[in-house]
Amino acid sequence: MALKHSHSVKLNDGHHMPRLGFGTLAPRNIAPKSKAFEFTKVAIEAGFHHVDAALVHENEEEVGAAIRGKIADGTVKREDIFYTTKLWCTFHQPELVRPTLEESLRKLQLDYVDLYLIHFPMPLKPGKGLFPTGEDGKILYDTVDLCTTWEAMEKCKDAGLAKSIGVSNFNRRQLEMILNKPGLKYKPVCNQVECHIYLNQSKLLDFCKSKDIVLVAYGALGSQRYENWVNPDTPVLLDDPVLCALAKKYKRSPALISLRYLLQREIVVLAKSFNEKRIKENMQVFEFHLTPEDMKTIDGLNRNLRYFIASPLREHPNYPFLDEY
Ligand code: NAP
Repeated sequence: MALKHSHSVKLNDGHHMPRLGFGTLAPRNIAPKSKAFEFTKVAIEAGFHHVDAALVHENEEEVGAAIRGKIADGTVKREDIFYTTKLWCTFHQPELVRPTLEESLRKLQLDYVDLYLIHFPMPLKPGKGLFPTGEDGKILYDTVDLCTTWEAMEKCKDAGLAKSIGVSNFNRRQLEMILNKPGLKYKPVCNQVECHIYLNQSKLLDFCKSKDIVLVAYGALGSQRYENWVNPDTPVLLDDPVLCALAKKYKRSPALISLRYLLQREIVVLAKSFNEKRIKENMQVFEFHLTPEDMKTIDGLNRNLRYFIASPLREHPNYPFLDEY
């Protein structure tokens, strides 16, 4: 089951990334871990070649078992799968970077990941769980120079543990800090950020394109609206009336119009679904085109609305979402 060339983008280090990725975020209070196993297999069977995961999702074992299962039964080869994982904030100290990736690989039982990302530019104190708190209940921040974290990421690439390296949730200033680092060996191949019809990231996209960095969109369908991370008063993206009218016009779902809008702007798009029908539907994103007029109409829906405000980290000195972009 080889991937069509037109369905992937070339990264600035020469590797290719499939333009549609399967999201695996599903906190345990919402879905048992077994669902990640079940639906990662369904996604690969449906034709997804790109799987987006993270240490903080706490389901890499299940996702890895699903990938290995689909390799073992001959559906795909390892080289057909593009697997991303992310370095969590408590492991930013340079000496923790490689052991943390090795721990992900051990859980996955894979030899390498295709992409390793710094998940957020906000270091947290190591050693006390993923969200360490002090006696006052406040999250414990750490101070780590992100350039030193990046150098440790470069070493993971040199060691062959990660084919490509990149960042997530970095604003322009934070990206420039890495790009301008003296002795930079590898540029980030991508910046994975929230991006959808209400937060179209046009300025960050232009900046990333000018540096040959791919913008990868998460929350493209309006996020899963988890209470801890997402403000419940925000509008439901897939109910947008303009989006729904366009869906009628194209005889496609609002979800497909949302995904297609991002793909046509040369954005790599992630879509999470733990539902077989919707997983298969999302693969149809390559089957149609939006006209330039309709692309403009959707541009007009932008309202710089961020679903993931990461409120527990709002006071962090590196909080990335206060800059314009
Ligand atoms: P999303 O892709 O915006 O999806 C939101 C919801 O849309 C899902 O819960 C899904 O529900 C529903 N859905 C999927 N396909 C649909 C369709 N065709 N029609 C109608 N509804 C549909 O969710 P997300 O998890 O926030 O983001 C996607 C992925 O991005 C994550 O899973 C994760 O891998 C990554 N991510 C990264 C970060 C970061 O900080 N780097 C942050 C958040 C997410 P069902 O499951 O019920 O179908």
